Amino acid sequence: MKIAVVNETRGFERRVALVPSVVATLVKRGWTVTIETGAGLGANISDQEFQAAGAVIGHNKAEMLAAADVIAKVSPPTPEEWQHWQAGQIVVGFLNPLGMPQTIGALNARGITAISMEMIPRTSRAQSMDALSSQASIAGYKAVILAAEALPRYFPMLTTAAGTIPPAKVLVMGAGVAGLQAIATARRLGALVEAYDIRPAVKEEVQSLGAKFIEITLKEETTAQGGYAKEISQNAQEYARQVLTKHVQEADVVITTAQVPGKKAPLLVTEEMIAGMKPGSVIVDLVAEQGGNCEGSQPGQTIEKHGVKILGPVNLPSTVAVHASQLYSKNISNFLQLLVKDGAIHLDFGDDIISSACVCHGGEVRHPRVKEMLAPVQV
Ligand code: NAD
Repeated sequence: MKIAVVNETRGFERRVALVPSVVATLVKRGWTVTIETGAGLGANISDQEFQAAGAVIGHNKAEMLAAADVIAKVSPPTPEEWQHWQAGQIVVGFLNPLGMPQTIGALNARGITAISMEMIPRTSRAQSMDALSSQASIAGYKAVILAAEALPRYFPMLTTAAGTIPPAKVLVMGAGVAGLQAIATARRLGALVEAYDIRPAVKEEVQSLGAKFIEITLKEETTAQGGYAKEISQNAQEYARQVLTKHVQEADVVITTAQVPGKKAPLLVTEEMIAGMKPGSVIVDLVAEQGGNCEGSQPGQTIEKHGVKILGPVNLPSTVAVHASQLYSKNISNFLQLLVKDGAIHLDFGDDIISSACVCHGGEVRHPRVKEMLAPVQV
């Protein structure tokens, strides 16, 4: 099998799909790995390190891509990238099929097989390939670091000769992978942490990290298939916001991470709630790009409302590019090893991981939601 890793071209993307330690294991299996020159620089990896691990350094993008069976990527490809790809090739990466169905349509039209890392099921067997989790955990960690940097207060409680400093109060909304890592990081920095999630199943995990779980009983089902959250009604959202207002306004830091796959992020913090927060407080909205949990948050920007700083960071895993690439690379290689039987690529759609992750193959869009989104509108 021949794998190609090219420079990521989309906006601020410092991660690389494969790191030298993983390249070495793939090369040992007899695979050829070609890395475009400079592809590792964003993650502080030189061409020499890749070479020492057994990779071939590609200086001619068109040539290296023409020879590849598999193209390993991090961010969704741009049209400039896929113009070099050919029918029969496999691309694997974060392809954002529900957010960017047209990209899948374009890849499919070219006869490319697209594997979306987002679509790998969240099952025990697929845990080692779960790139959503490995990267969300980094985002949760970094959100707290950004909040600590923006907050004009200490996080930990301190008793000093010059007086006692109370611990910062942190509220985490959405206690999935990112939220749980945010809780753990804020606790490590000494903050008092509260957390809320519409899935009651996370209560024990929140408590085991030393945070208080805010319980809000909603009179509707909040958990969908696969353990993901369900989109809840406007009434239920309004009720939850009423209960949460007091907690938001008592917090020094609010970190929001709530998402429902394929939907706009739910609105959890309104401007009215922000108006009642202490000046100098900080909100980090990790899903600003998906519509935002916090009213007015802007992707990639920090704004100020009523004396409260609202951060809307995008692609936080990329800011921790070394470890993000290391974990992502492992996820990718574990998945690729599943694709290979007796030394050859075999797309076994009887395997639920391969079947779920493969969004298009052989000129057919396989993911039902993406297919629906690409269908011509009937008039
Ligand atoms: P996500 O990023 O889709 O959402 C983040 C969190 O937001 C979720 O916990 C969700 O319940 C919460 N949320 C959604 N709407 C909300 C609202 N209106 N108010 C408050 N919170 C709201 O979630 P994720 O981190 O990707 O995790 C999704 C699921 O996958 C979870 O059940 C998680 O435990 C599960 N998971 C399983 C495995 C595994 O078994 N291998 C690995 C990782 C994640």
